[in-house]
Amino acid sequence: MRVYKTMDAIMRHAPELTPDDEAKINKDCFLPYLFFRDDRKAQCREFVCTSCGEVFLEEFTKKIMTQGDYDRILNKHNDFAVCPKCGRKAQLKEMYRAKDCKSLTEWRRFVAVKPVGANTVYLLCGYAVKNYTGRNYNTKPKYDISAVYYLTPGYVRVFRKDYDYTYLGMRDGQFYEPKSIVEPFTRTYAYNISYWDKRGYSFIGFDRLQSTFLKYAPMDLFDKAYEQWWYSTHYRNSCGEFPDVKFLAYSALYSNVERLIKLGLGDFVCSLTEGRPMKRYINWNAPTVQSMFRMRKDEFRNFQKAYYGFADFEIYQILRSVKSDIQYGTVKAICERYHYEAAKRIAKVIKARKLNLTRTLHYLEKKAKEEKGPRKRPEQKDYETTAIWWTDYLDFAESLKYDLSRGDVLYPKRLKEAHDNASDAVTVQKDKLAFEKYRERYEKLKKKYEWSDGTYKILIPKGINDIVEEGKVLSHCVGGYAERHVNGKTTILFMRLAKEPEKRLVTIEVKGDTICQNYGYKDRRVTEKEKEFIEKWIAWVRAGSRRPKKKKTASAA
Ligand SMILES: [Zn+2]
Repeated sequence: MRVYKTMDAIMRHAPELTPDDEAKINKDCFLPYLFFRDDRKAQCREFVCTSCGEVFLEEFTKKIMTQGDYDRILNKHNDFAVCPKCGRKAQLKEMYRAKDCKSLTEWRRFVAVKPVGANTVYLLCGYAVKNYTGRNYNTKPKYDISAVYYLTPGYVRVFRKDYDYTYLGMRDGQFYEPKSIVEPFTRTYAYNISYWDKRGYSFIGFDRLQSTFLKYAPMDLFDKAYEQWWYSTHYRNSCGEFPDVKFLAYSALYSNVERLIKLGLGDFVCSLTEGRPMKRYINWNAPTVQSMFRMRKDEFRNFQKAYYGFADFEIYQILRSVKSDIQYGTVKAICERYHYEAAKRIAKVIKARKLNLTRTLHYLEKKAKEEKGPRKRPEQKDYETTAIWWTDYLDFAESLKYDLSRGDVLYPKRLKEAHDNASDAVTVQKDKLAFEKYRERYEKLKKKYEWSDGTYKILIPKGINDIVEEGKVLSHCVGGYAERHVNGKTTILFMRLAKEPEKRLVTIEVKGDTICQNYGYKDRRVTEKEKEFIEKWIAWVRAGSRRPKKKKTASAA
């Protein structure tokens, strides 16, 4: 067997479609019609079958008639009847009623299987069109090859031609080689070989694969696996065409493809055909399936038995990099107990912090039971919550720079309490960080608004938390303005007693030198005295916030 390595050689040696292939395209790709015309004088009906091309007569006066004969003679335009020459059920079309037959024009996509030896298979893919216009009842389809696949064991080449659809019709493009194995046609939401009017593409001469190295490629199993995989990974969207040509190409390229599908691990083949070969975990060129997953025989057997989906496979791979002898069953048990999201978090933490798996699981188990209380059995959601608390806690602890080398810090005795404390501490710390960004604005606001008359004073909020706290203490809704204040969309100010500046009193919202709102506890209105101060202060703001030069500021008192 000779393997061609250049596009030129491959294309030059590509087989042509034979009349037999063309007849198959006509038969398998297009809707069959029985065009007919009644000849009253001759007492017969004339037929043309578009599927087999036969022209024949049925006499009205025939002595013995079968049901088929009746159907052909009595049925009307758009009814169905069976062609006696080829045995196909076809739609009747009365010749003069079908007018110019324009609406009967069909475009179809085909994939012709053309082996040139046991170890070389060409797939010639293309578009075929059948056009009856001009009452050309016995027309043959015209076709054009738009993609050529060259399949040999372990070596595959793909050449595609794109059309220029600037006008209705085909204009030849040049063949080029795509960077990866692609499907021959743009995907549509039609199954490859399904309903008459909704087909994706049809294989022509599929059974010819039986005499080639691809005879064991389990396409039906692949289609089943693909549909299942699609619905488990693509929510909502319907599956559409099966990438069967890609499947054949990958089956030729990697001998493990066939084995994986037969072992019920079709997910990995589906992922491969969608351009995600997961090379981090899978060596597609490996000689056996277990070596492909870098597993020992017994490991692989466990994996194959317990495999459920990509989620547990990913968690298995994470944990395996920490604990090389981990069993797939153990991972499945963790996934079942904690659910995938939390299980993945645990796995990631264990990997990142190089923790002991057994100790960690033991700890989480214990905490989940403690949290649930005595004589109660934690459910999956309890385990999940515990795992999320713990992994969150570790994130907080990290940013707070806790000493995580200590066992009692890593696995706190009272998990919930440790989690909540750390969470609060992080909020405070975040507020500090936010203040860093807000500082410039804070300084400007201070210059413009901070002022005291000795009885009252105006203060600038120190950050988001300061405003949220004001809202909590005074039981009004200013907390909701915190973000906008920090971003400069509005300005929130605090009015306090000069002698008790810690005690929250009145909140003021301003825009420039206009007061929008001012409220005290539970939205109370300001008192006359407070109002007097506010008016004095805003007059000072309007006058340009002038301060005595020598004293630092009036409010520094
Ligand atoms: Zn026929």
